[in-house]
Amino acid sequence: MTAHDVTLFGDQIAATRLSAKFAAVDAPKMMRLAIEDLFPGRIALVSSFGADSAVLLHMVSQIDKALPIVFVDTLQLFPETLAYRDTLVGRLGLTNVITTKPEPKALAAEDPENFLWAKDPDRCCELRKVAPLAKALKGYEAWITGRKRFQALTRSSLPLFEAEGERVKINPLAGWTQDRIDAYFEQHDLPKHELLKKNYLSIGCIPCTSPVKPGEDPRAGRWRGKRKTECGIHGQTLDAGSDI
Ligand code: SF4
Repeated sequence: MTAHDVTLFGDQIAATRLSAKFAAVDAPKMMRLAIEDLFPGRIALVSSFGADSAVLLHMVSQIDKALPIVFVDTLQLFPETLAYRDTLVGRLGLTNVITTKPEPKALAAEDPENFLWAKDPDRCCELRKVAPLAKALKGYEAWITGRKRFQALTRSSLPLFEAEGERVKINPLAGWTQDRIDAYFEQHDLPKHELLKKNYLSIGCIPCTSPVKPGEDPRAGRWRGKRKTECGIHGQTLDAGSDI
């Protein structure tokens, strides 16, 4: 199989083979392979502009500053995240950030007071994250995420490639550690998200994000006190053309 033989739509076995084939390839090279060789013109990076996002965004800036970068603005984000997005886009010279938002009609019908997160967080994520992302990813064959195995027990067996419905999902940082991320920030003099100073190690929406205590998983502050651990973007088929 050459790098150009990527036809694994819905085929998890083929995805597992690709994960094994590229297991020893480091993230910057994997990013280049995915963007230039495997899925040229058919791939997007999905970024939350959160705590570690600068790593993949910097790699993209070294490969193709015009690569589509999809950002889901749930309209419940911290102002610090929006400011960080603008800082990184300017610093790295990224020219193709696509902001996708929830449908106003859907919000008016189901979450007019912006309080659905308390009553039904799964539905809230569906309206504010999954649906807008699904819409933005229409037409792409593959997307890149910044997920890592060390972030939480639920991500401990995260593969490099996943077959997800009609699309391929690539997790180039799956095997990275926090030390490695910190070293990358230092090596490339990357700015940090302001909320890191307050111990927000994984940053999502305001109502569903809290600081992390010493010894906790980095994602322990997400949906604290609820049984929910993921927004729904990872773990279901993104039909219609749905990380965050
Ligand atoms: S993280 Fe919370 S506020 Fe954001 S979309 Fe999900 S439930 Fe809603």
